[in-house]
Amino acid sequence: MAFRLHAAVVLPADPACSVVRDGVVDVDDHGRISFCGPADSAPVGPQAPSETRRLPGILLPGLVNAHAHSPMVLFRGMGGDLPLLRWLREVIWPAEAKLRQGDVLAGMKLGSLEMLSRGVTTSAEMYFHAEQMAAAVLVTGGRAVLGAPIIDLPGMHWRTMLADTERWIDADGLRFGDGDRIELTYAPHSAYMLPVEGLEAIAASAASRDALVQIHVAEAADEDAPQRAEHGSVPALLKKVGLLEGRLLAAHAVHLSDTDIALLAAHGAGVAHCPGSNAKLASGIARLADLRSASVRVGLGTDGPASNDDLDLWEEIQLAAMLARLSTADATAVSAAEALLMATRGGADALGRNDIGALEEGRFADLVHIDIDDPAFATGLDVPDNQLLANLVWAAGSRRVTDVWVAGEHVIEGGESTRVDRAAAQADVAEAAARLR
Ligand SMILES: [Zn+2]
Repeated sequence: MAFRLHAAVVLPADPACSVVRDGVVDVDDHGRISFCGPADSAPVGPQAPSETRRLPGILLPGLVNAHAHSPMVLFRGMGGDLPLLRWLREVIWPAEAKLRQGDVLAGMKLGSLEMLSRGVTTSAEMYFHAEQMAAAVLVTGGRAVLGAPIIDLPGMHWRTMLADTERWIDADGLRFGDGDRIELTYAPHSAYMLPVEGLEAIAASAASRDALVQIHVAEAADEDAPQRAEHGSVPALLKKVGLLEGRLLAAHAVHLSDTDIALLAAHGAGVAHCPGSNAKLASGIARLADLRSASVRVGLGTDGPASNDDLDLWEEIQLAAMLARLSTADATAVSAAEALLMATRGGADALGRNDIGALEEGRFADLVHIDIDDPAFATGLDVPDNQLLANLVWAAGSRRVTDVWVAGEHVIEGGESTRVDRAAAQADVAEAAARLR
């Protein structure tokens, strides 16, 4: 299976966001990268893969969506003009009460296909019937870091949900699937949806298994205010219950004080910044520039497709940079290169993964090819590096993603899945959604 991709431009997503002209990426028999660099320094002879494929455009790592609830494609467009808590209580939770396993399978399959076709190879997912999410991703050939929400609601008991997560991890291990396609996590919904003793139990359980914990943090002012009054802040509560001691991914993290940011930084927590969802729900503008200058590991997330309606992380790249600039009145607050790195290497970092998100020897060959037959690239690739990155980030985005590989497997070819019939996946969602409405 070893092969070589030889592209006009390779973006390895190294910390400097280098632009490698006439670049090569070699993929080994295990779906991992064995070389990435200029063609003239690539291995030759028996060290080189026998098969080479030439690509006319830009090759970069698959994007990492650090926060999503992708099966919510089932609810796309529902209640789209309501604020967060009304939207949840009046629209989403009643619809979710009717969810069946097969609905989540159908929703995740389509969500995964949509992400792959936009060049998003990994997503961090929190949703009900999580075993169906894993099954769907194993069908599409994507990659997911996922868990079932642990929540305290009438008819849902956090102890049962925590025990379900523990049982699954103990049975299947933290990672499984070809090319480690699936990583299991703990997914406590939020501080406001769980008692303190629940958060403590989750922290202890996750730490004993060295598992990632994903949790919504200080997303909207009206859920954050009572937490702040009772516990100081959500990050302060997370520290008190022990969640900051383990691997933690804080989703949204909009309403943070300087002390909160310092706490997250000191404990190495990851943040999934969701600018599109936060803007649409008027939740606020997260303090991206301050998080970054405190060296917090920040990735980008779409959030669920019922609150931020497509799963195109390229829009978050633009929005993250735009909102950071607008909110600081500083056009240099986040560059195109920095925004692109947050969606690749940064997202992997935020998830605590050093085996995806960049084109480096040893990492999985999760790759995206962007064709340049588009007005965005009419000035060609033979332009200065920063102009090329600007054209990619500000003008092109996902619209010319033609080919995607996950762990070296070609899963999107010519813009369509090599594994799943998209029309059939859409029909399955239409059928499920009609019943859930
Ligand atoms: Zn969310």
